[in-house]
Amino acid sequence: MKTCPKFTFGVGDRFAHGAHAQLQAFIAAKELGVEICPTWNKSNREHSIIGSEPQSTRDAADQAVADLGWEGEYLLDADHINLSTVDRFIAPCNFFTLDVADDIGEAAAPEDIAAFIENHPELIGSISIEGIATPLEISKELVEKTAKQFLKATQKAKAIYNHILAGKGGVDDFVTEVSMDETDAPQTPPEMLIILAAIADQGIPIQTIAPKFTGRFNKGVDYVGDVAQFEQEFNDDLAVIAHAVKAYHLPQTLKLSVHSGSDKFSIYEPIKKAIARTGAGLHIKTAGTNWLEEVIGLATAGGKALNLAKEIYTKALEKKEALCEPYATVIDIDHSQLPSAEEVNNWTSEQYVSALTHDQSNPGYNPNVRQLLHVGFKIAAQMGDTYLDALKANDAVIAQCVTGNLLERHMKPLFT
Ligand SMILES: [Zn+2]
Repeated sequence: MKTCPKFTFGVGDRFAHGAHAQLQAFIAAKELGVEICPTWNKSNREHSIIGSEPQSTRDAADQAVADLGWEGEYLLDADHINLSTVDRFIAPCNFFTLDVADDIGEAAAPEDIAAFIENHPELIGSISIEGIATPLEISKELVEKTAKQFLKATQKAKAIYNHILAGKGGVDDFVTEVSMDETDAPQTPPEMLIILAAIADQGIPIQTIAPKFTGRFNKGVDYVGDVAQFEQEFNDDLAVIAHAVKAYHLPQTLKLSVHSGSDKFSIYEPIKKAIARTGAGLHIKTAGTNWLEEVIGLATAGGKALNLAKEIYTKALEKKEALCEPYATVIDIDHSQLPSAEEVNNWTSEQYVSALTHDQSNPGYNPNVRQLLHVGFKIAAQMGDTYLDALKANDAVIAQCVTGNLLERHMKPLFT
């Protein structure tokens, strides 16, 4: 197993053009005394929409690391893969997010469920967990219900892990994450404990786990939900993980992973407090926030670049149903609040930048525009060289946006 650094931060580089600017944020954080390991993540869905290959993410990351002299560790995450999509990620990646969300609810063999319950009498009854005030009360029925819901998913995760291991020639030199975030219901701390016991039974060297937390984690915008409840759950999950590491001999480095983690400004303070208090590690994934900064950079540059940013909006608006469809569970767009193409075409650079920049104190900020463009990267992909040439021509201003967004809005609030 490749040991996962304590703090890892996922950055998405949709067009393989932002790795340098992203890495600059990690360099700046290091200068502030915070060691964060860059983890470039691009999911199979994003590669498919853009028409890119995982190797291109690896090449861009390697180049940025070499050019900027980054001597720390860095990782390449095969984000949200399963058995049918993992193959092209095996060579370039050293971090694998095994997505078992689709398998949740699929029942395991009755004898496997019976064996799980039989093997885990310690899960039933009143379980004292250090860091949780009242013991967890877990009935046999809950263990059975949770096993029915999740056991098959952990078996599938093991099958994906084995497949990757075989693809790596039998050498486990990678980090394994299990993700369950893209599902309907949040997992409670007792369910988390039962799931971790099942993962340990499978022998998966899990180092990060991405549960579905309470509340909405919409793409590119702030958290929507009860922050106090989130904080409670997050703290309880940390306590359950620490307990499970000891009880089931899971890797000491096991930590929580927060997916769709960019821009969730209202929960950064509770997360920061929790990791400071417990000494726990953290993995947080961001992706589309970086592509949005590319568009903000184009709009900032004005002239032809601003016109291109307007064209991206116009086309995204025309195709909004198709663009939103794959992201239905992770966006909430009020379509009545999307400005018309005519209106946006009359915007100044400042108006466009205000609408798209995630500054909730700016009256011009429009979270609906932000979410639509977040899922609208396909439009830029279809523009091909026109878009890529604009990125190159406006590299300096875009880099400032990308680095500043990661460092000032994300890393500093979370880690300093
Ligand atoms: Zn996810």
